[in-house]
This record gives sequence, structure tokens and C-alpha cells, in this order.
Amino acid sequence: MSHAPSVPTLQESPDGIRPAVRAVPAYPFTPIDAAIKLDQNENPYDFPAELKALAAERLLLRPWNRYPDLHADELRRRIAAYEGWDERGVVVTPGSNVLIKLLTELAGIGQTVLTVNPTFSVYTLEAQLLGANLVQVPLQGDFSLPVAALTAELRSRPPGVLYITQPHAPTGHLDAERDVRALVGAAPEWVVVLDEAYHQYSASDFRPLVRECPNVLSLRTFSKAWSLAGVRAGYALTSAGLAANIQKLVSAFNVNALTQAALEVALEQPGYVQARVQEAITERGRVLGALRDHPTCQALPSQANFFLLRTPDADGAYRHFLSRGIVVRRQDRLHLLSGCLRVAIGTPAENDAFLRAVAELR
Ligand SMILES: *Cc1c(COP(=O)(O)O)cnc(C)c1O
Repeated sequence: MSHAPSVPTLQESPDGIRPAVRAVPAYPFTPIDAAIKLDQNENPYDFPAELKALAAERLLLRPWNRYPDLHADELRRRIAAYEGWDERGVVVTPGSNVLIKLLTELAGIGQTVLTVNPTFSVYTLEAQLLGANLVQVPLQGDFSLPVAALTAELRSRPPGVLYITQPHAPTGHLDAERDVRALVGAAPEWVVVLDEAYHQYSASDFRPLVRECPNVLSLRTFSKAWSLAGVRAGYALTSAGLAANIQKLVSAFNVNALTQAALEVALEQPGYVQARVQEAITERGRVLGALRDHPTCQALPSQANFFLLRTPDADGAYRHFLSRGIVVRRQDRLHLLSGCLRVAIGTPAENDAFLRAVAELR
């Protein structure tokens, strides 16, 4: 007589998922349907229509049944030419968020992920998912890097990866170059990631420092200034040696043919980027200037395409903006950021709508 195998109940059945993964909540982002989207720091303008058409044409000519470039070699060559970099030191992935996962795999698992607090949530998320020892040092009250405290951590711990964002997210603060250099100087055995997702808006550029130090890497993205968040691409600029080790972790054929075609066109005709960056910088000055005399809200200075608005009641202000068709991002539960909402710079008309809505706040 045969017995049907007994089916274990859910509780009895361990499912093999690592406890570190189970412990992490799902990525904390809820898409909100609003006419004016100022919650993801995107470029308010789409990729130019004529370039979109060129990219679509190019995609039509390519075979879809064939795998794309193994490591996006043609794209890496073009990024290298654009950035004035050795192509062996370029790694491309579908978004810089993927690179953050791989860098955490490279130097974080079983080792240390060191960053500041508050910080870009993906660094801490990946550290937790991958079971790295996450260490966060509080930013100073003016949002500048806690150089002495970070240096003490760098010197006292076995190495891992250090994540620094310049300009910083979510504060928009840009640090003095000597402070970033001091940290890099204290971390010769660490992988040091300088995330420059917003560097166009601050006219800052850490390529010279990265060129000097083979363990340092600049992380860049097509998602913000380039208007290509939907296409998903980011890249690292670093030494050939570090790039070769990161590349081992990149899955083969990671950058798809659509993304490759769009980016090739963008890199051939990148002129639209600077014009849009210039407008965002002008608009940032206008919006921050208009908020200077607000009776209850304070707009904090920023070197990025977003800024923090400190309100007396973040929940009330958030809901007020939503009622006016504007979605922003709450940051008020983060260290140093009580009452703060993060607001992206939009088109001039969107910024006007935001200013009208904020003027109604008391
Ligand atoms: C937006 C952003 C990125 C870009 O991520 P992608 O995956 O390339 O879209 C990277 N770092 C920071 C700090 C960001 O804010």
C-alpha cells in the first residue's frame, strides 16, 4: 500500500530564504498618480522626440533574435569617449542601482558597508539584503560629511565598501573636495564609491580624483540629467583592475538591445543635456528665492535637481500638495530631516504650480 507523502504545513516548511532577505521590507516606494510628479528626481522633459525616433529606427534595423553585446562593449567605448576615460575602466548596467548591488557583492558581503545617515536608501537596502555589516555615521548638522568620524571607522574596521554621494541625496549638499579627498586618503584598502548621480546640477566632477586612485569609482546614471530613467542605464568609471572585477559580477548580456540603441543615439547627440541642466539650475534658484520669505516653511539650499522643504507638519503639507495635483517625497522620518519633504525641480509651469500650493501653506 502506498502512502501519499504528507504535505508539510507552511510553518513546518522552511523555504530556504535567507533570514537577512526576509527581514528587509519591500522597497519603500508607492507610485502615486498625480498630474505633477516631483517625487523621483526625474528630468521633467522626455528624451527629445527626434532622438527617440532615431533610436527606434536603429532598433528596427537590429536583429532581435540575437543576443546583444556581451558586456555592452560598443556602448562602453562610446561612454569612454564621452567621458575621456579608458574603456577598460567603464562598466555599464541597467541602472546604477544594479551597480550598487554588484559593488556591495564585490566588497560588502561578509565585510563592511560604510556610509552616512541619512543616505541613499539603495546602499543600505543592498547591504542588508546581502548580509553585509552596515555602518552608518550621522551627517553633521549642516549636512556636511563627518570626516573625522568616518576616518575613525575606516581606520578601525577591516575594509569593505564606502558609499559617498556627491552632491548628497537626499539633502542636495555638495562637500568641499578636500573633505572627499581626506576620506579617500584614509581608505586605500577600501572600495570607495563616489555616486555622482546629480553631478551635472552642481558642476562637480570627481573624475580627476578617481583617476589618481585605482580603488575609487565614480558612479553615473542616464536617469536624471539625460532624461532616460525609463531606459535603465548607469555606469562606473574606475581603474581597469577594479572594473575587471566588477565586470565578473555583471550577468552576461545585461544591457538589452533597446537600451544600447537609445544610449548610442544619446551619446552621439548629447547637446540637449546641458540646456536642460541649465534650465533646472535657473529654476532651482528661482524656486528657492521665492520661498525665502515663507512664514512657516524653509527651503534648504541644494546643488541637485531637488531640494528639501522643511515644514511644520510634513504629513499635512504632503496631503496639501497632493490635493493640488502635486506629488513630492516624504523624508521626515530620516535622521536630521524632521518635517522635510523632498521636491524635484520640474518645468517652469510645474514649479509655478508648486509655488502657488506652498504659498497656501501656513
Ligand atoms: C537617482 C539616483 C541614482 C540613479 O539610479 P539608476 O538606477 O541609475 O536610475 C543613483 N544614485 C542616487 C543617489 C540617485 O538618487
